[in-house]
Amino acid sequence: MQGQMQERPLLISQLIDFAERFHGDGEIVSRRVEGDIHRYTYADAALRSRQVANALDRLSVPIGERVGTLAWNGYRHFELYYGVSGSGRVLHTINPRLHPEQVAWIINHAEDEVVCFDLTFAPILKAIHTHCPKVRQWVALCDADALPSDTGIPNLISYESWIAGEATTYAWPELDESVAACLCYTSGTTGNPKGVLYSHRSSVLHAYAAAMPDVMCLSAKDSVLPVVPMFHVNAWGIPYTAAATGCKLVFPGPALDGKSIYELLEAEKVTFAAGVPTVWQMLLGHLQQNNLRFSTLQRTVIGGSACPPAMIRMFKDTYGVTVLHAWGMTEMSPLGTLCTLKNKHLSLSADEQLKILCTQGRPVFGVSMKIVDDEGRELPHDGKAQGELLVSGPWIVRSYFKGEGGDPLIDGWFPTGDVATIDADGYLHITDRSKDVIKSGGEWISSIDVENIAMAHPAIAMAACIGMRHPKWDERPIVVVVKKPGADVAREELLKFYEGRIAKWQIPDDVVFVDAIPLGATGKMQKVKLREEIAGYTLPGL
Ligand code: AMP
Repeated sequence: MQGQMQERPLLISQLIDFAERFHGDGEIVSRRVEGDIHRYTYADAALRSRQVANALDRLSVPIGERVGTLAWNGYRHFELYYGVSGSGRVLHTINPRLHPEQVAWIINHAEDEVVCFDLTFAPILKAIHTHCPKVRQWVALCDADALPSDTGIPNLISYESWIAGEATTYAWPELDESVAACLCYTSGTTGNPKGVLYSHRSSVLHAYAAAMPDVMCLSAKDSVLPVVPMFHVNAWGIPYTAAATGCKLVFPGPALDGKSIYELLEAEKVTFAAGVPTVWQMLLGHLQQNNLRFSTLQRTVIGGSACPPAMIRMFKDTYGVTVLHAWGMTEMSPLGTLCTLKNKHLSLSADEQLKILCTQGRPVFGVSMKIVDDEGRELPHDGKAQGELLVSGPWIVRSYFKGEGGDPLIDGWFPTGDVATIDADGYLHITDRSKDVIKSGGEWISSIDVENIAMAHPAIAMAACIGMRHPKWDERPIVVVVKKPGADVAREELLKFYEGRIAKWQIPDDVVFVDAIPLGATGKMQKVKLREEIAGYTLPGL
């Protein structure tokens, strides 16, 4: 027997309609590329999104075609999120930190017809536009008088001129909820990046899930600052969840240094922020150096790579801010797990609670997880068995754009490439990327655990643990570290710091000091590149 409820498709346009209707005066504050602060409301954003939709109609961009963006977090990018997807086109967010050649490759692979970009990225497009023949319209996200005249880019218009004459009314189409809304390419650390096509349905379901109390717990009472970029995995879905909840939105634009972020957090009374560990490290450094405190910040979700326990502790103990450690990936829209305590944990000591809060947390409702051994056999959720993590759910990829890479699923499950344990309560502990796993004497050593210990040392800013070939043990770990400015620590002292914090045989064989660890376009450590940089290195005693 069929249920008898209405079959209303879940569409991205409904989010902005809702925000306009019920949170029309809700504020959206942006630091612009120009350096000033721009303020307006959800009602303004909704109106201008409709102008974007009309501008795309005027260009006759067909439904389903891609519109690329190379842009920071800001109000114009937010309008494109809604104007492009809401009108049935596919918003293709491009990571501007990629090599220009890769940006061109992605624009061509996606077959973008229109590309909108912040002025910061004009040099990239100046260099590559001749290699992107399918792009019919280039739009610089600026006022008419700021349009650069020296780019040589044909069909270039300022965003404000582009939408200025357009009607502010638009009838959003009643799309099939499973059509594509957004396209985001994976970081592509090996080979070319692959496109993940989010649908209206997957994005709206993800928006509901992200708002739940044990996830981001967002509400109309919050002031939210996503430092995570709108150019990668939709800033963890925050632009959608924000419209669904009516929270105040604060966009940092290009200024991601500790001082600028701190000023915005304070001035806009931010209660909730989201970012990767490297950005928060800059923020914490700024607070420490200037002896500052947060006056409104309550919670911050940190993910994208493992958040060092030392950072979680410092946020809590020194600044009274709760870190919500999250794990996910581009292929998962991105939310997979997020860490909050259960009722039964409330009576535990602060140290015991912290131990739980340092894990990657429990699955968000909608995400199924399992771990398997090398033969694909399911492993127990006992917090000890370690295996490859597989996931499934309505906002997890089924196949890549244009079928690239064939069928990625194994019996309907997506293999994440992460190695993890899961405990009886569902708490996930990521120990490694499968390609980074260190196997020593037949036993696994978690490179993340080794890194986290080094990061707990007051003199260490960043640490990467890698396995080096060893004739007897197969592999032995070493830790490559960057010292904090003005701080010092000797090799022996750091190795001694490991004693009692990790099993003896897991202690790295050596410490290598470097000035910097290479980071990829999404802020993750690039261990392959790091290995190249220390190519001449040999383990002590070999
Ligand atoms: P991306 O698709 O670029 O977002 O990268 C996803 C990958 O980042 C995951 O498969 C993990 O390897 C890593 N990652 C994300 N969040 C975490 C986390 N909290 N702890 C450890 N690794 C993480």
